[in-house]
Amino acid sequence: MSLKNEYLLSVYETVKKRNGNEPEFLQAVEEVLSSLEPVVERRPEIQEKGIVERLVEPERMIQFRVPWVDDNGKTQVNRAFRVEFNSAIGPYKGGLRLHPTVNASVIKFLGFEQIFKNALTSLPMGGGKGGSDFDPKGKSDGEIMRFCQSFMTELYRHIGPDTDVPAGDIGVGGREIGFMFGQYKRLTNTFTGVLTGKGLEYGGSLFRTQATGYGLCYYTQEMLKHLCNTSFEGKTVVVSGSGNVAIYAAQKAMELGAKVVALSDSSGYVYDKDGIKLDVVKQIKEVERARISEYANRVSGAEYFDNCRNIWSIPCDVALPCATQNELDEEAAKTLIKNGVMCVAEGANMPCTQEAVAQWIENKIPFGPGKAANAGGVACSGLEMSQNSMRYSWTFEEVDEKIHGIMKNIFANGYAASKEYGFDGNMVIGSNIAGFSKVCDAMLAQGIV
Ligand code: NDP
Repeated sequence: MSLKNEYLLSVYETVKKRNGNEPEFLQAVEEVLSSLEPVVERRPEIQEKGIVERLVEPERMIQFRVPWVDDNGKTQVNRAFRVEFNSAIGPYKGGLRLHPTVNASVIKFLGFEQIFKNALTSLPMGGGKGGSDFDPKGKSDGEIMRFCQSFMTELYRHIGPDTDVPAGDIGVGGREIGFMFGQYKRLTNTFTGVLTGKGLEYGGSLFRTQATGYGLCYYTQEMLKHLCNTSFEGKTVVVSGSGNVAIYAAQKAMELGAKVVALSDSSGYVYDKDGIKLDVVKQIKEVERARISEYANRVSGAEYFDNCRNIWSIPCDVALPCATQNELDEEAAKTLIKNGVMCVAEGANMPCTQEAVAQWIENKIPFGPGKAANAGGVACSGLEMSQNSMRYSWTFEEVDEKIHGIMKNIFANGYAASKEYGFDGNMVIGSNIAGFSKVCDAMLAQGIV
């Protein structure tokens, strides 16, 4: 625990007492609070108005049952959540995750992070998150549809285009959003932008699929330029995961001149010294929904290894963890540093453990935290909300350009805050302070609510 400020320490102790069995949530709160010491010391009104106490307590948290019938006619029951964490700067906004590891702690950690991430985009979006412990792996389309419909049959009464606008996350892509949107429309008899990540035919935004991965590379490009005085050109890059974020991060890194040599899934990783062939990955992951191990069967010279965590033993210049929380630990960080990594940016949410982050900071490795580096996805969702309100549609190039501008700004604002508070180039502190300051000002303006 690196917290020294008495006020922040006492807030953290209360959070711990109330949420003692929620390790991921506590980890996220501690990380943010540790960055806020200089702001709290400079601005006494934060303590006077109880800003941090209010920030760490969700405005609302819903837990509900999702009953559905599988293909064998058997009734299944899952547990689902929606946390509406903070609405100071806009309607709650954040994805829905379908994965067996989903619980209250995971959803609260993600919802809490989302507050600051959304603020960083400079778009009017509050923080929220949701999901269920339903495992989409191996389920038929019919099972996915019945689950999504049952899920929305409860969720619909808590959300709305001006209240709470969910999106996709792990396990929730275009197919799931479509099923959920259809059920929402049927239940409410309205056609609104209540969900983002929709299909193009019914209000979706061009570029949503690419947004997080491309945005991550735009952000990393700024880091390489301003903190390392270089670019992606000729760099070796390791990307973990092989889902939506990983695939499009790899694609943009390659377009910017880098060689991506590895990808993973939760079973293992593939190493291709000649550079990953993305058309093969897309066929395996997006079309066949198969395992990444398949890649080694199809590309000569590529190797597959069990144990996805060992992906970080591959020497690289840039590491982009894009799979899941806590996938890169202290030991992996030390190995990457020993092998000469020059820049690390999080495509996933909190993929680096606290100990790994400490390694980056201690060894002065430029590090982009997820709430800044992967904000391209939610920024694109914010733009989708605008397009839906206007009943309008921008071109792919227009959205790409806007996201590029937003990612540059996110870096610039975080960098400026890091310098203003005497932590030059520490993007964890800079991004937390930049995001927090905006939310804090809005909360101060709106009174004790
Ligand atoms: P997907 O479901 O598309 O992909 C997740 C990928 O990570 C899969 O390849 C999955 O493999 C792999 N994975 C899961 N657990 C592990 C593990 N323990 N070790 C290695 N690989 C693992 O999700 P997304 O790409 O959408 O999301 C990835 C991360 O990015 C998440 O943290 C998400 O919250 C974050 N994020 C996503 C955004 C988006 O726009 N999609 C926006 C901002 C953040 P397997 O198939 O074996 O499960």
